[in-house]
Amino acid sequence: MFIDYHTHHERCGHAEGQLRDYIEQAIQIGLDQLGLSDHMPIIHLPEEKIPSGTAMKLQQLDEYVQEAFDLKKEYRGQIEIKVGIEADYVEGFEEEIENLLSPYPFDYIIGSVHFLGEWDHSDSRQMEGWRKKSIDQIFSEYYRAVQGAAKSGLYDIIGHFDVIKKHGHVPRGDLTPLIDETLKVIKEQDLTLEVNTSGLFKVVKEIFPAPIIIEKAVSLDIPFTLGSDAHKPEHVHVGVEEGRKVLKELGVNEIATFDQRKRIMVQF
Ligand SMILES: [Zn+2]
Ligand SMILES: [Zn+2]
Repeated sequence: MFIDYHTHHERCGHAEGQLRDYIEQAIQIGLDQLGLSDHMPIIHLPEEKIPSGTAMKLQQLDEYVQEAFDLKKEYRGQIEIKVGIEADYVEGFEEEIENLLSPYPFDYIIGSVHFLGEWDHSDSRQMEGWRKKSIDQIFSEYYRAVQGAAKSGLYDIIGHFDVIKKHGHVPRGDLTPLIDETLKVIKEQDLTLEVNTSGLFKVVKEIFPAPIIIEKAVSLDIPFTLGSDAHKPEHVHVGVEEGRKVLKELGVNEIATFDQRKRIMVQF
């Protein structure tokens, strides 16, 4: 079973290609399932504070979901399309996120922490934020937010668990207890952890989460899904082989897939 549950497309403003291009690529490389999971619209910032090309506009969400479900139908028999969304978790906006997403029949929702308040730590145009607090403090705030995401009940999958390391920052102190605590919350909430291989192509050059964290999650019996985080059609499933290898070497032989927000474990 070959899957990729984390892909974007041009609506977000920083990815290339249409949904159909990602699907065609997935068919060409022989995937069994492709998950469409573009960024949800930004709802916690006033319009003028949203950096250009961060996410689709609020009024585009309807057409995104409609097009994705139309394509799911159109490609039935060729590839299984799953309709998802990568939804930001922003502390204090749980109700707004719920209200935004609940009208749609998504197959799955990825919860990702890109924002700590108004700051998008993952945006390479916003690096000045790293000079406002210590790295350890930022990492701690990040993992607390991931715990908030996990406890919110809004999500099926926790996206790129340790993406805070993306730009190559390394905390001075030992964050192991906080990471362990965060994994415990994910386990308690019965969530799925994404192995996101885009980190291989960032400054950090390591998958999300780091293999050592994956190993801990395996020992907690947390289920995994796989995603490339492709922002170009030709990047579908790129690096995912590496993620599969890490999981298999740790003895994982089932992967989580989703249908109408129900987790289905399959051999992979
Ligand atoms: Zn993106
Ligand atoms: Zn993300």
